[in-house]
Amino acid sequence: MGKGFDFKCKNCNFSLSANLGIGFGYPNLCTKILDNIKNGTLGKELQEIADNINNLAIYASQDLYLCENCRDLSPELTIALCSPLTDLPKSDRPFSSVCECSESDTYVMEYQLGTEYKTELIIAYFCDKCKTKMTKVTSYENLECPHCRSVLDYEMYCWD
Ligand SMILES: [Zn+2]
Ligand SMILES: [Zn+2]
Repeated sequence: MGKGFDFKCKNCNFSLSANLGIGFGYPNLCTKILDNIKNGTLGKELQEIADNINNLAIYASQDLYLCENCRDLSPELTIALCSPLTDLPKSDRPFSSVCECSESDTYVMEYQLGTEYKTELIIAYFCDKCKTKMTKVTSYENLECPHCRSVLDYEMYCWD
């Protein structure tokens, strides 16, 4: 289930709202990402890597990214390309994706990605302001305000 977050700075009134995690639209999102990888919208490099993976699975999730240099925060879509650890027979579907809510064999479950797949590539994001490579935020406690460095308050709600 996806969660919405409102981050607020009490000191300077900076605020940021973001939907994070995985929502019920997930299978559609994965299909869309796969289409964009296949048709080259996300770049030729990605298209070529994807072409060379048998039974590619992808992982996607909305995450918050932090620039360690200028402390800028930005919600981005984490996309990982994963390949099976064992030689599976190449399936009719050249691509599958990961889904934690569906039992359909169209989808690889999230736990399977951890045990039966290895990550080939994770898309990197760079800071708009200073071009430093951003890191994924794993805890929302004690995040700093990008403007004044005070600790940000946050509220959470469910968005689907
Ligand atoms: Zn602030
Ligand atoms: Zn930066």
